[in-house]
Amino acid sequence: MGEGEELIHTFLDAAADMDREDLLESLARVPGCYVPGLSGHLPLTAMVDGGRLPARSQILTRNTVLSSMFLVEAERGCSRGCTYCVMRRTTNGGMRLVPPETVLSSVPEHARRVGLVGAAVTDHPGIKKIVRGIVDAGRGIGISSLRADRLDAELVTLLARGGYRTLTTASDGASQRLRSLVARRTTEQHLIRAAELTKKCGLHRLKLYQLIGLPTETHDDIDELVRFSRELAAIVSVSLAISPFVSKRNTPLDGFDFEPITSVNQKLARLRAGLKGKVELRSTSARWAWVEYMLSQCDERAGLAAMDAWRAGGTFSAWENAFTTRDARPLRGRVVPDGRRNLPLPVVQSSTGTGALRPVDG
Ligand code: SF4
Repeated sequence: MGEGEELIHTFLDAAADMDREDLLESLARVPGCYVPGLSGHLPLTAMVDGGRLPARSQILTRNTVLSSMFLVEAERGCSRGCTYCVMRRTTNGGMRLVPPETVLSSVPEHARRVGLVGAAVTDHPGIKKIVRGIVDAGRGIGISSLRADRLDAELVTLLARGGYRTLTTASDGASQRLRSLVARRTTEQHLIRAAELTKKCGLHRLKLYQLIGLPTETHDDIDELVRFSRELAAIVSVSLAISPFVSKRNTPLDGFDFEPITSVNQKLARLRAGLKGKVELRSTSARWAWVEYMLSQCDERAGLAAMDAWRAGGTFSAWENAFTTRDARPLRGRVVPDGRRNLPLPVVQSSTGTGALRPVDG
């Protein structure tokens, strides 16, 4: 569990020398390994020495999603604290930076496109130096994550030179109230500025990632999203990529319910009606987001259900049946530990004793 660069050697050495039973016994005691039934606790997640960074592509081929793009990790982790996010600063020591010179020198001569990977690449203090080095060498650029409050004309111009046509960033809260609630530091001013820079620097479109179904969200929040998206669309072409909120383990929002599928669909319909003809809208299906929620929030029974669902054809009803048959239910009422504390194995509560929901403020 966690970062595998060092653990993989422990694992392979043990696998080469031992039979299955001894292997599981021995791995159950290794920090970062979890063996169901043998490990007494969920282990601390593994963290590699910073000297091992950056991870980078070993093979360049057209036959990948990011065709022929050389990927290099400019940083690992994030220094921010959005309460829904598994990459927040309490995960594995926060943000580890790779010096710009190391990133640039890792790019092979033949790479024509370079993708900078990391949870919060634009928070890297040397981001412009890295992007400039790549673009000045005549290469295309891709960045896995742009933070709206880190964008300025210099950076967006460099991205445009590197082939960017769509500026993608995240809002992750239908309203300012919700963004504040989940400690997402993006404001309307940041997003308006992002729209203006998109236009000014000759890009075609602003794409925004957006969560719906966050705790306490109402139709008023959705209406604010409609109003604000229309304002952005008056500046530049806008598309929204919507994901229903799924609470994740070991985050302050761990344990929060998934909004009922019908309610998510009503909100999506309200958004579509309000943005029709003005803003392009794409959404992850509420039903598949619910499957993701069950896998995120149930115990090992959800893993067995996944096997059953796959064997039964992988349709949504196959997943529903599998969760029911395996009696997989979300864990409730747990106090969420912060950071790298050792977690006790979760215990499934009975349907009559779910306990109070106690999210912990991050
Ligand atoms: S959502 Fe993004 S900015 Fe917020 S903690 Fe996660 S990686 Fe960092």
